Amino acid sequence: MILRHRTKPLPLQKLDAAIPRLSPHFPGLPKMKEDAKKQQQGYSGELKVDYFFDNLAPMYTILHDVYLRENNKNFQIDSLTIANHTIFIVDSKHYQGSITFNTTLRQLTRSDGTIESGFEYPITQVKNQKFHLQNWLKQHNLGHIPVQCFVAIADPSTVVHVKGSEEEVGKHVVHAAELPEQIMKADRQFGNKGARKLSNYQIGKAILSKSREFDIDLFKRYGVKPADILPGVICPDCGLRGMERVYNGWHCGQCSCFSRNAHKKAIEDFLLLVKNSITNKECVWFLGNINRGLATRILKKSGLVYDKQHRCWRR
Ligand SMILES: [Zn+2]
Repeated sequence: MILRHRTKPLPLQKLDAAIPRLSPHFPGLPKMKEDAKKQQQGYSGELKVDYFFDNLAPMYTILHDVYLRENNKNFQIDSLTIANHTIFIVDSKHYQGSITFNTTLRQLTRSDGTIESGFEYPITQVKNQKFHLQNWLKQHNLGHIPVQCFVAIADPSTVVHVKGSEEEVGKHVVHAAELPEQIMKADRQFGNKGARKLSNYQIGKAILSKSREFDIDLFKRYGVKPADILPGVICPDCGLRGMERVYNGWHCGQCSCFSRNAHKKAIEDFLLLVKNSITNKECVWFLGNINRGLATRILKKSGLVYDKQHRCWRR
């Protein structure tokens, strides 16, 4: 079964929420947009690979997006499968064009036909994750469990070339569609060698209980200050910030669209970007100076819980 599903990563959620709420002249904006694009590509690649794990879910225990701490270091695993005899780490990679693994220089280059660019060597990356996971397992009295690792190529049209040892690359790198079979095969081999049968659900629960949510401090990383986050309800159709409150909803002055619930996203943005609670006064301001009574009605219907002591609303 799938014990942990993938959701949009928090850093990407924050970037997507912050970008339309910053002044177009904000100095960190180009970098933020570039990072959001990269993270979105990575996330899309991971989702493509996840699709193939569904075939394994009836047999094994699967956790997506695992984030653990070992020896004062955090490490992140895209997908972790606890099979009958061994644990598999899968790192999803999304490359367009063709890629070349150079096993001598331990280097990866990608070519889109005109430009060649270099990347961190994915086999080294996934082996580092394996090293950390093995240490983590030891610390949690699970050190007897063998760990194997794969790099999954998300896009079936990515052409993989090898300079050097094809065998070495083939041991670790697979197209996503091949993953279920490779994992089952490798697991059987461990079984045939006499590896003991794992109680995969219990191990999965133990890992899940220690897994955290990967996050970034948006303010530190990009020099954003809370005051830089601009208020207003954003139009779901054209992206204009500052929809106007009309009877029973919101009207966009730019594209004339009407939305009943566009304020929900604004409140979510506030909780994600500004602070983890919202007062009536903050709601009035953030939704574009609406009247107090309306702010109260909106907050009461928002699904948030009222904190009497601090007179604010929170999740
Ligand atoms: Zn609009």
